[in-house]
Amino acid sequence: MPDSVDERKPGQGTGYRERRKKARMEPCHWCRATAPFVWHCRCGLRICQTCMDENFWGLSCNGITWVCPDCGDQNGFGNQ
Ligand SMILES: [Zn+2]
Ligand SMILES: [Zn+2]
Repeated sequence: MPDSVDERKPGQGTGYRERRKKARMEPCHWCRATAPFVWHCRCGLRICQTCMDENFWGLSCNGITWVCPDCGDQNGFGNQ
């Protein structure tokens, strides 16, 4: 019984081309904008650099750490 097996899968073998590195764009909790870089709190809060700049006076008292407005935890700058 001749069965015609035709398993041609279009695109097969080119899957690796889909695996290009994409920058992780994460949404900011405040402005909802996605940014390639966001500050993370261990509670999961994310703040983009723009919001951090705008609220720097309220988030950081020493320029070394910033206080998460959500959980009140201290997070260090440059300690990502
Ligand atoms: Zn933001
Ligand atoms: Zn937090």
